[in-house]
Amino acid sequence: MKKIIIANWKMNPLTERSAIRLARAEDFRGVVIAPPFVFLEAVSHRLKKAKLAAQDLAREEERRGPYTGEVSAKMLKDADVRYVIVGHSERRRFSKETDTIINEKIKLALKEKLKVILCVGEPWSVRKRGFGASKKFVKNQLRKDLKGLNPKSYILNSRLIIAYEPVWAIGTGRADKPRDAVEMIKFIKKNLKPRSYILNPKVLYGGSVIAKNAKGFLEKKEIDGALVGGASLKPKEFKRILNIN
Ligand code: PEP
Repeated sequence: MKKIIIANWKMNPLTERSAIRLARAEDFRGVVIAPPFVFLEAVSHRLKKAKLAAQDLAREEERRGPYTGEVSAKMLKDADVRYVIVGHSERRRFSKETDTIINEKIKLALKEKLKVILCVGEPWSVRKRGFGASKKFVKNQLRKDLKGLNPKSYILNSRLIIAYEPVWAIGTGRADKPRDAVEMIKFIKKNLKPRSYILNPKVLYGGSVIAKNAKGFLEKKEIDGALVGGASLKPKEFKRILNIN
């Protein structure tokens, strides 16, 4: 089976035209594309079968009050978005998103039957204390982010994707070692297992994946795919990653 590849465009590109051009270059082999909100509709109209992800969603439902600047799960659904990234480390850091907020967002996304791509991963200050500390950190994130979700529900089982993204590896050109990523991903899977006999989440690796190192991650049976940031903005580079898959 092909692995899951997600293209996180972050706050790029600058214009709708470039967004459509980029999406056309990437829209094959089941890639999930995550453009900025403002381009979601345009890409979904032009590329009818594109698998689209939003990079975030509001922590509240629209009927609950006035939330200037927010985009709700229902709105994403209406724009034919099927996936949503929740808890990306850049949002945790720059938008001060806590695990409580992330937990609320996951619940709202699942309610609208969106697939959730939950990002977890330790910062360098933790990793430098060792792998044990990193595992503890990630376990804690998972416990808080998934709190109150029924682990036996089919919905959770089929709609949850975890992206293990060590914070120090994102956008730095310093990818994790594939064997360390495997160890963490195995830990994540084991950690989620006791919560249910059916829970079998897909766990991806993300953090400076480029054409040169992608094979090292994608060839590992424990790694179910990759979340790609910077390299997904370069069509030639990105195609080389897809060709490995
Ligand atoms: C990301 O944005 O989630 C990411 C992994 O970025 P990059 O591939 O640029 O490190």
